[in-house]
Amino acid sequence: MMKSVTIIGAGLAGSEAALYLADKGWAVQLFEMRPAKLTPAHQSGLAAELVCSNSLKSTLPDTPSGMLKEELRLLGSKLLPIAESCSVPAGHALAVDRGVFAKKVDDLIQAHPKIELVREEVTKFPPGLCILSSGPLTSDPLAAELQNTLGSNQLYFFDAIAPIVAADSLDMGRIYRKDRYDKGEPDYLNCPFTREEYYAFVDALLSGEQYQAHEFENEFFRNIKFQYYENCTPVEELARRGKDTLRHGVMRPMGLEREGKKPFAVLQLRTENRDQTAFNLVGCQTMLRQFEQKRIFRLIPGLEQVEFLRYGSIHRNSYLNAPEVLNGNLSLKTSPQVFVAGQLGGVEGYVECIATGLLVARILAEGIPLLPPETILGQLWRRLTEPGQGRFQPVNANFGLLPALDMPIKDKKLKKLSLARRGLEALKHFLEENNLPLYEMVTQARENIEQHRS
Ligand SMILES: Cc1cc2nc3c(=O)[nH]c(=O)nc-3n(C[C@H](O)[C@H](O)[C@H](O)COP(=O)(O)OP(=O)(O)OC[C@H]3O[C@@H](n4cnc5c(N)ncnc54)[C@H](O)[C@@H]3O)c2cc1C
Repeated sequence: MMKSVTIIGAGLAGSEAALYLADKGWAVQLFEMRPAKLTPAHQSGLAAELVCSNSLKSTLPDTPSGMLKEELRLLGSKLLPIAESCSVPAGHALAVDRGVFAKKVDDLIQAHPKIELVREEVTKFPPGLCILSSGPLTSDPLAAELQNTLGSNQLYFFDAIAPIVAADSLDMGRIYRKDRYDKGEPDYLNCPFTREEYYAFVDALLSGEQYQAHEFENEFFRNIKFQYYENCTPVEELARRGKDTLRHGVMRPMGLEREGKKPFAVLQLRTENRDQTAFNLVGCQTMLRQFEQKRIFRLIPGLEQVEFLRYGSIHRNSYLNAPEVLNGNLSLKTSPQVFVAGQLGGVEGYVECIATGLLVARILAEGIPLLPPETILGQLWRRLTEPGQGRFQPVNANFGLLPALDMPIKDKKLKKLSLARRGLEALKHFLEENNLPLYEMVTQARENIEQHRS
């Protein structure tokens, strides 16, 4: 009998799941409401559009995101190789040309004989097997359906994104290229502050006029509390924590010396596209009003005449109280034919969303059992499905999730490489033992692990 599934949302998780299942011969009906109905952050009708940063984080094996990427390769991710094929220079991070990436995924989906792409909003759960991957900006009617199904367990909050500026409006007389500690190619642009310039910038942030939460709320969500992700906290909120918070955090000058001199603080600009015509203000996600963004970000050295291609803004962001509402196989306790993947299901971050899309697809296709505890994805899975953890916050890849090594290692880099090696070996062994498909894994990161071993 032919197996079939309905997937709601052609974002990162939904596209990954659709491509994996379709390649396994499943008939996939993939619903996407864009472009007829855009979310507050998406700008196109393309599948797998990245809404904020264009970075899928580090590829180094001694980082959690690098390790998760290696796990995804072993598990047969469809989107990761596509991302790599449209990468832009970003040191050890995998940053992509977002337009090229989304177009490639969209083309693959449209051309796949087993995928029917339906450009319509879904407002009720369909009959039969379904993957709910409608993301943090799930449309209101579907969110209402979800809340009706779950009772009062659904949480809701806002999030902030950083501005993007035009390269040809930057003052390259003041700005310089350099990667922190000269680790890789000098892909980042750096805006160096003097003491006076830095404090003037912080003062301006503190007095800048912000949008207010209630301006974005609608009837459905009126009573729900206003919160941010910690790593997406608006720059003006960070400045409120202390005048030096930024220069000790996202604007720290360490490793960014110029001609032997350390600036007082440095704001970095990250490439947005292959042609390097646009740059993202790293760490400058904001709730400032647009005219205030113009005034305040132009105080940054080198940005005095800057042209904004996209202003920073705030957005809605929804996720489930996953450990309380999900079964062990990531389906809803109240509707076991509905599986949840992506950010709505309680993970945070692009790669994590791709990872849970793949996971749900493999749960459906092969009944893959709970992954080993030594793996990042195995631990994310546990965090999403083990109840009784107290107030649930979205979870992302981090080494803190992993069990300690049998033999403690003091050297931090060595310890992280050992955690990565242990996890990948456990995953490989697990897939072989369970007679599950295991995919190629030949990458720079893998080579680094091998070198470390020898
Ligand atoms: C504003 C914002 C900025 C973010 N920035 C970052 C970042 O910089 N880095 C990072 O790692 N993570 C970031 N995230 C978190 C997260 O990684 C991304 O949101 C990611 O795209 C989520 O993937 P997803 O597959 O769960 O959902 P999405 O990629 O958002 O896909 C969901 C899809 O479902 C569609 N949809 C919604 N409702 C319906 C419906 N009723 N019917 C049909 N289709 C529907 C949407 O149009 C969308 O295409 C951000 C999140 C937000 C909200």
